Amino acid sequence: MASIEALRDKVRDVPDFPSPGVLFRDLTPLLADPAAFAGCIDALASPWHAAGIEAVCGIEARGFIFGAALARRLDAGFVPLRKPGKLPPPVVEVEYALEYGADRLQATAGALQGARRVLLVDDVLATGGTLAAAHQLVGRLGAGVAGAAVVIEIEALAGRARWPCDVPLHAVLHY
Ligand code: AMP
Repeated sequence: MASIEALRDKVRDVPDFPSPGVLFRDLTPLLADPAAFAGCIDALASPWHAAGIEAVCGIEARGFIFGAALARRLDAGFVPLRKPGKLPPPVVEVEYALEYGADRLQATAGALQGARRVLLVDDVLATGGTLAAAHQLVGRLGAGVAGAAVVIEIEALAGRARWPCDVPLHAVLHY
């Protein structure tokens, strides 16, 4: 299995993208490297093998890449949580606050069929608003969240504080 340091070497730091003051963590070099991509999925999956995960929900867009690969590894189904206007009706949605304005996440009504052990997946946990909204959306779908898996947690932004402390949240890389 690739070491954590080998994975970290494949993350490209891009200052001031997409806006001034943001240090963007670019995971495309990791995805392009077969050993690093496989090692990353191994590391994402390792806490969850015995967790009885029924469905993985990936958050648009980069959460789809990691989430779909993780769903296969865990023998679970995959359900996309999408930006508004992408999924055909009927959809269920949540609105959540951004630094400036608001955004929405949608899922297909009935997609989780009352699953009790759903795993949420995204690439980066920053302020935590996106992952908290995904948690709320799964609740509105009538399903239960077993936990969340992210590739990168940016600890200085304290996103974990917005996540329910009794639900496991695992990050592969910490910054
Ligand atoms: P947040 O809701 O603040 O936790 O932001 C998480 C979402 O924004 C994730 O879907 C990430 O893809 C993206 N994101 C936020 N900050 C960064 C960053 N520094 N580098 C890469 N992606 C980021």
